[in-house]
Amino acid sequence: MDERARRFQLCKPCLDRHGGRPELTLATDQGECFICGGRSGGLGEVSKKTVRALGRFEFRTFSVGVVLPSGIQEREDTLRSELKIRGGETIKSEFAGRLAAAVVKGMRGKKVDRLHPDATVLADIGGGTVSVSSKPLFVYGNYTKPRGVSQRRLFCEVCNGRGCESCVGSGYSASPSVEGLVSKRLGELLGSERFKFTWFGSEDEDSVVFPPGRPVVIEAKSPRTRHPPGELRLKTGIGGITLSRVRAIAKQSEHPAFSFITRAVIGAEEKVTEDDVKRLQKDMKGATVRYRNNKGRLVAKKIYFVKATARGKRITAEIKLDGGLPVKRLVSGEAVSPSFSESVGKPLRCERFDIVRVWTKARR
Ligand SMILES: [Zn+2]
Ligand SMILES: [Zn+2]
Repeated sequence: MDERARRFQLCKPCLDRHGGRPELTLATDQGECFICGGRSGGLGEVSKKTVRALGRFEFRTFSVGVVLPSGIQEREDTLRSELKIRGGETIKSEFAGRLAAAVVKGMRGKKVDRLHPDATVLADIGGGTVSVSSKPLFVYGNYTKPRGVSQRRLFCEVCNGRGCESCVGSGYSASPSVEGLVSKRLGELLGSERFKFTWFGSEDEDSVVFPPGRPVVIEAKSPRTRHPPGELRLKTGIGGITLSRVRAIAKQSEHPAFSFITRAVIGAEEKVTEDDVKRLQKDMKGATVRYRNNKGRLVAKKIYFVKATARGKRITAEIKLDGGLPVKRLVSGEAVSPSFSESVGKPLRCERFDIVRVWTKARR
């Protein structure tokens, strides 16, 4: 028999998909289908699983992807190339379409969106398993924190992040952090297991962040629900963390610009005079300060004002400045110029700084 005249027996769905062609006939036993071996008939169970798995997610639009048992796609490709079939539906697109139809029929108000779906289903036809992931949710909020709580989660002191017995495999320290506690609570509320925090600057563990708080954008990966609460109140054991003005936003800003007011307690080695403080305020008003960032690049930032008082060897200063400029280095003058030490003419050291207010420059 000539290669071109090869005939194929197909099941009903596979035959219908390829239309009427003399080389194709209906198999008496559906399990004899050249392409699918009878798999096309048995999507009922996977359809049910798909609807059930999606039911655990809050979504409006979705898309379905399909993993076929090995050989099916290859055999259909063989048939299509031998019969010179181009375009039209493939078994993969047909399966995906049938599963999507089951979702539209079985759940209210759901729509297919292949480009930007809220939820993505992956159905493994051979294994009979269905997994769902959802698009990330970006949450914006302002946090406040007490002294002694770190901003970021710290690595476990024993294993340094690798995971060990003492950290129960998490790799993280048990000491309280904004990132750790907010992740835990948001995880419970949104049904998300992974978060990515984008901070608008940082402070020390012993800095207080006062209300209204420092902004943060939190990306929740594959959340089940898409409506964050308006506010979180979390206990740390040494004072509360709040996350307020919480809301879902359209997108994350990768390089958040901001300015802030900090209240710094500064120590000097000798007595600081009223004249020192007056000169400091005058020098720093509207000053452009240059420093090397941690990538070694020279960066210019603005100081808006300094309001300072001196008592003995100590200065208390309220400073408004651009975000990114490290407060401790601005005071000491370490690779920063002009600095407070430079202006006062005495070596100074920032003992502590609290965050009074943060303004973002992004339009939100
Ligand atoms: Zn078939
Ligand atoms: Zn550990």
